[in-house]
Amino acid sequence: MTDTTLYDYLERIASLMRAWAREQPQMADLQPIQLSALNYLARCNRYSNTPLAVTDFLGLTKGTVSQSLKALEAKGLIEKRPDARDRRSVHLELTHEGRGLIDALVPPAFLRLAQESMGARGELLIELLRELLGTVQRQEDVPGFGLCRTCRYHQKREDGAHCGLTGEPLEAGAGELICREHAEPDQAA
Ligand code: SF4
Repeated sequence: MTDTTLYDYLERIASLMRAWAREQPQMADLQPIQLSALNYLARCNRYSNTPLAVTDFLGLTKGTVSQSLKALEAKGLIEKRPDARDRRSVHLELTHEGRGLIDALVPPAFLRLAQESMGARGELLIELLRELLGTVQRQEDVPGFGLCRTCRYHQKREDGAHCGLTGEPLEAGAGELICREHAEPDQAA
């Protein structure tokens, strides 16, 4: 019989997170998909905050994501900014209110407490989940979203971090953000 243990654990944790979100007063006016889109935009870098990247990250249809983004904009949680080089494309940025909402909701307190109580094994778990995600994305040939500091193009220089793919300097803290151009260290160029 196929081992379903990993699936079962992930599914149970996802159920607990959905139940937790439903109980939060701040979620009364927010659909779960809107929270997912808002959280992605709070975590991604400047190359990855477009409507198309949100669609790819969430793995949903363009129409569904477009409606969610419109709702977030109408609620004053995100705002559009035209691209400085290509005025036809837009970037989506969290407003002060949007950032405050994400800071209040993510991560759920129960998850943070459980991870903290695991100590070093909690950190090992994060590393193993990162490896699992990278493996799935590579094997399934889906967009390789990942943390910038773990990318093969991430360069640490004396004058600060740089992206080896775009050749541009990276702002402080960019290493902790999600990028849609991320490539695993062992991935062929
Ligand atoms: S180093 Fe990699 S993850 Fe970071 S911005 Fe460049 S392509 Fe994206």
